[in-house]
Amino acid sequence: MNHFLSKLKKGASRAADKAQQAIEVTKITAQIHSKRKQLDQNLYQIGLEVYEAYKAADLSKAEKTVRMYSKENQSLELQIRQLEDQIRLLKHEKQCACGQSVKEETRFCPNCGARLEASEHYLPQIKRTPLPYVPDRPENKSESIRQDVTPRKEPPK
Ligand SMILES: [Zn+2]
Repeated sequence: MNHFLSKLKKGASRAADKAQQAIEVTKITAQIHSKRKQLDQNLYQIGLEVYEAYKAADLSKAEKTVRMYSKENQSLELQIRQLEDQIRLLKHEKQCACGQSVKEETRFCPNCGARLEASEHYLPQIKRTPLPYVPDRPENKSESIRQDVTPRKEPPK
């Protein structure tokens, strides 16, 4: 194939990829939007329930529904975060711990200056609690050694 033609074809497929990516991003953005709307409606309901219970002079009346809406909102928040992750993946972006979205190849966050992982997709690291330091206690050691050297009874022949 002619060099120019193959170049053109490559360019076209890249453009198609970009178009497809833009469609996906738009679709996911719409999903996020509707989930946020649902979340806001739930917050409104929570407020309403609490206020009605207040007027009835018994806040405990609101508890059941407040729990229900709160639980739903927690799940919605999680879903929104996952969708935002998908968008970052599509746009070849990663997220700094401070919340800033940056391009994949960015080494330092422009917002907070933190050094960023070189990985394709940055996932927040799980905080690891260090194992408690257990000092060696020589008295215990010698005791266990002493136990080890205690002669065992010879099995009867
Ligand atoms: Zn940052």
